[in-house]
Amino acid sequence: MRSELFSELGLTPSRILLNAAREGRCAVAALNFYNAETLRAHINAANECNASIILQTTASTIDYLGIELVVAMAGAASRMSSQPIALHLDHGGSFELAKRCIDAGYSSVMIDGSKLPFEENIALTRSVVEIAHRAGVSVEGELGHVTQNADNENIADYFTRPEDARRFVDETGVDALAVAIGTAHGFYKGEVKLDLPRLREIRDAVGDTALVLHGGSGVPDELMRDAIRSGIGEDQLRHRTQECVHARGKRIACGKRRHRPSSHVRSGGEGRRGGLDVEDPRVSARVNSFFCVSGGSCASNSN
Ligand SMILES: [Zn+2]
Repeated sequence: MRSELFSELGLTPSRILLNAAREGRCAVAALNFYNAETLRAHINAANECNASIILQTTASTIDYLGIELVVAMAGAASRMSSQPIALHLDHGGSFELAKRCIDAGYSSVMIDGSKLPFEENIALTRSVVEIAHRAGVSVEGELGHVTQNADNENIADYFTRPEDARRFVDETGVDALAVAIGTAHGFYKGEVKLDLPRLREIRDAVGDTALVLHGGSGVPDELMRDAIRSGIGEDQLRHRTQECVHARGKRIACGKRRHRPSSHVRSGGEGRRGGLDVEDPRVSARVNSFFCVSGGSCASNSN
């Protein structure tokens, strides 16, 4: 049965990894792979940390490699990994693409309706949740919009509003929600500022739904830790929300930098399962250096 395909491949729904991370006060790194080299580096880094990771691809990588090869590579990676891993569609742009990934064996999909009007975003996201959950596949939505350029002066116009976030998760049933609180895709030219009070409000509004931070690659380590702690909450007795550090390539210009295996995630997390220990000073809990050597599949890291 198709719905069992991801488990036959040895892949795990991202919801399970995020729940485990929450228990351990961890974050899970979500890492794009584009080819064998990047995939191998992610697995090496994850095994070094004994951490679960979310492997993800954009539509352009699916076009480049072919979905069968993507799924087969992720399946092989899962067998090489010491901890469970997920295969996730990053910034899925349509119902059709999300369905294709679910049918092919992805264990998690993102449907990005963040550029749509609110009601249309809800409708699209809910339609994907319906088919995904029937197959046991996790779904990430996006509300607000993580912009492309950190220097966009109007970035705050796109920030996620807590009251909208509550309605969005209630009406769509997503497992994870990407939020806009100050990060952006691509390079940061100036200081990165995150609206952590807003993040805490969103956390309180969405209950157990995991919060996802896109555009994390250029965020300084300490600020990233603050963001993760804000997802956890100042009130330590409240439920803990984790963040999936969506670690997009720091370098987008393909082939201009050397790929550095195992430089992605710092050490540590001993005994931790489901993610990286953000309280461990050895752990940067994110990808610092991710250099793409592929021939163009990551050039469209634009969503
Ligand atoms: Zn993103």
